[in-house]
Amino acid sequence: MSDIDDYGDDLFGDAPEPVSVAILGSTGSIGTQALEVVRAHPDRFKVTALTAHSDGDTLLAQAKEFDVPLLGLTAGGMEAPAGTTLVDGSMASAEVAEAAEASVVLNAVVGAAGLQATLATLRAGKTLALANKESLVAAGELVMAKAGPGQIRPVDSEHSALWQLLHSIAPDQVRRALVTGSGGPFRGRTREDLGNVDVQQALAHPVWAMGPKITVDSSTLMNKGLEVIEAHFLFGFTYDEIDVVIHPQGTVHALVETVDGAVFVHAAPPDMRLPIQLALAWPDRLGAPGGKRLDWATLGTLTFEPPDTDTFRCLALAYQAARLGDTYPAVLNAANEVAVGAFLDGRLAYLGIPDVVERVLDAHEPIAPSLEGVLEVDAWARGQASAIIATRGPSRPRIDPGSGATR
Ligand code: NDP
Ligand code: MG
Repeated sequence: MSDIDDYGDDLFGDAPEPVSVAILGSTGSIGTQALEVVRAHPDRFKVTALTAHSDGDTLLAQAKEFDVPLLGLTAGGMEAPAGTTLVDGSMASAEVAEAAEASVVLNAVVGAAGLQATLATLRAGKTLALANKESLVAAGELVMAKAGPGQIRPVDSEHSALWQLLHSIAPDQVRRALVTGSGGPFRGRTREDLGNVDVQQALAHPVWAMGPKITVDSSTLMNKGLEVIEAHFLFGFTYDEIDVVIHPQGTVHALVETVDGAVFVHAAPPDMRLPIQLALAWPDRLGAPGGKRLDWATLGTLTFEPPDTDTFRCLALAYQAARLGDTYPAVLNAANEVAVGAFLDGRLAYLGIPDVVERVLDAHEPIAPSLEGVLEVDAWARGQASAIIATRGPSRPRIDPGSGATR
């Protein structure tokens, strides 16, 4: 062995230590894209823990490929492979977040099921790369109270964009933020058009390939509503300072307007590997994922339009719940999760999603959003939503034409 090998890259003083990463929800859309990032940069990242809910086969294959010593499977029912530790049960993601030898924990679990893992990561003093927006929606005050400066790095593309923009703008110079949304597959449709939407149509997102829950949320614009709440908690904007603008091309991800009327725009190819790798490697920037770059000469027309909140009522409901505060956002989120699950299972019509969410919000008596309070309210809202869905069935009239009201 030559002397130079002993020095390795350190001779040049610029080889960073690999970042140790735990990926919660590794079998999902964000989780597998995070592993693509690791695969593309094996010298930059070391995966030390992975979790999934029930897809043990994929989890095992990932553990083998990336030589991962700690695994979690919330649904259980799997043997630990030799040389690994396996945690199971409903708290598995949180337990893995805490126990993992990781400096960064990527929470890519779907739904409020990710809340305990978010809190456990923060409590353990680890950096949280947060894709699981539902934990901020359900318990934003609690989560932010536990987070130290810079401890949360956003993964959601709009929030990653805002995070990048806000690094170079003084807080007192910011007038408002805008998050963009593609408008989903039903942009431009009327409420009547949406009466017969089926699952396949709702899952045909024009820009992003994502997990089923967020894809349905994108089609109803609930995803933008959840993102408005996410932006409020992450960056401290009031709800009057956060707007949604529909931008079908998916090229601009967020905008920040300063007090003097200047607008800072974040544009990038619509590829989640970019915000994921930035959250894992921050403050470093790695190469363009898949070599994709915007070609401004051929990009063509970028368009912007207001969201149609009469047709896509979930966005209006989210703003209402957000402004009411306390446990209303947790109820909004839980009722939506149950309604979307029922739609995906064929137990609820598409336009039933906002109806169910609205009815559960109407019935809610808010309480202080302690962890116990949030968990209690989450369970209550799920029960209420399930009961409403069971009584209404999938094919009952979804709309009362002309009134806008649905009850
Ligand atoms: P997926 O449905 O594709 O993946 C979800 C992951 O969470 C899977 O690994 C799944 O395991 C696991 N999981 C499911 N239920 C539970 C549970 N009860 N407890 C623990 N783990 C569970 O979702 P996405 O990757 O699309 O989304 C993940 C999060 O990232 C969501 O909060 C979403 O809003 C957010 N996000 C996603 C984007 C995207 O492009 N996909 C963009 C921006 C944000 P299993 O496979 O075993 O079921
Ligand atoms: Mg987003």
